[in-house]
Amino acid sequence: MKDLSIEIFKDMGITPEIYEYGESIWNSLKDRFEEVDAVSEYNQIKVIQAMQKNKVSEACLIGTTGYGYNDLGRETLERVYADIFQTQDALVRPQITCGTHALALALMSNLRPGDELLSPVGKPYDTLEEVIGIRPSKGSLKEYGISYRQVDLLPDGSFDFENIKKALNSKTKMVTIQRSKGYQTRPTLSVQRIGELIAFIKGIRPDVICMVDNCYGEFTQTKEPSEVGADLVVGSLIKNPGGGLAPIGGYLAGKKECIENAAYRLTSPGIGKEVGASLYALSAFYQGLFLAPSVTANALKAAIFAANIYENLGFSVVPDGREPRYDIIQAVTFGNPEGVIAFCQGIQQAAPVDGYVTPEPWDMPGYDSPVIMAAGAFVSGSSIELSADGPVRPPYSVYFQGGLTWQHGKFGIIKTLQKLVEKGIIIKDFDRRNL
Ligand SMILES: *Cc1c(COP(=O)(O)O)cnc(C)c1O
Repeated sequence: MKDLSIEIFKDMGITPEIYEYGESIWNSLKDRFEEVDAVSEYNQIKVIQAMQKNKVSEACLIGTTGYGYNDLGRETLERVYADIFQTQDALVRPQITCGTHALALALMSNLRPGDELLSPVGKPYDTLEEVIGIRPSKGSLKEYGISYRQVDLLPDGSFDFENIKKALNSKTKMVTIQRSKGYQTRPTLSVQRIGELIAFIKGIRPDVICMVDNCYGEFTQTKEPSEVGADLVVGSLIKNPGGGLAPIGGYLAGKKECIENAAYRLTSPGIGKEVGASLYALSAFYQGLFLAPSVTANALKAAIFAANIYENLGFSVVPDGREPRYDIIQAVTFGNPEGVIAFCQGIQQAAPVDGYVTPEPWDMPGYDSPVIMAAGAFVSGSSIELSADGPVRPPYSVYFQGGLTWQHGKFGIIKTLQKLVEKGIIIKDFDRRNL
């Protein structure tokens, strides 16, 4: 079997030495992968349990058109989400266009003029800057008279409790906590740490709404932030919980009142959750959710593999090869533009879709340096599928995530290494005896 693998990898441009290097790294990770599988098994059963409890039936997969009254599949799916996240209610819709939209919806529907939003974990995800009005933007919270305050994490990544306490004031209505580090260098927050932060905040202001930006974090642990005190968790269906199959969508799960507010904002006051045809998306939403624990595990394995491949070659990687993981993002720092470009080209060349194209850096609107992106996805822009991107500027880091199957993730990473070696960016004899 091994000879056969070496052969097909060779057909795909991977030298036997690099293949063997990948195997040796993989062999060192088996215990780690077993832990990932154990979390995935737990979450798989959790999803099945929620589906059975809510009597998901064939009729739920069909969907509605027009107003979408009495959409059995939509209503059942929202109860399934509420059970998985252990919340009173949920809003799971194809009309929520992306993660940013889901987060904006949660904020704009639960805040009123004169209220204040607090981020106690530093700067939020880039796209939220315009939602909040940190960067001036049409329709931002700021334009509606909603103010914003931020407390950064301390240099060692811990919470600045003293300043969080000071920042909480009579105007504070909502707190936003981003679970994933996103494209920053701070650590990703575990569900346990999020719970500690929320307990501290609620100890001072029990009435404040604690929202968690759950993007990239779903199913990486056995608990979700809503089980440790979050009033609202929010995310994108073209990341973890869509399992690679959801073609669009976002979700909010949380307290009844928070979800009600969001529904009235998404559709209209007076109408709320009662409308919103699910069209033809339900089957993919259900099946994607069913696959999500396993797909998330595959993405985690790819990230752990990448960390170990490159750490072992002396590159700086975040998280490192051994740390526990609470999201699916892996950063690797190459220190030169060629490394970032070669990595992204390797990911692209491993893709099932658009595998023949060569990504190049370009001046993307909103960025202050050229950005290179690699994605060959079945769902456009889906970052639960194997993808990578990096701004071409110091320290020349690339951010890598996804992989619907572990085998694809592994192939993608090996392909990046092959590219880096071919371009002379990594000079090493990959003979096994030299490892
Ligand atoms: C992806 C992401 C978002 C935004 O989601 P989009 O679907 O890209 O709009 C927000 N927050 C975090 C942490 C994310 O990873």
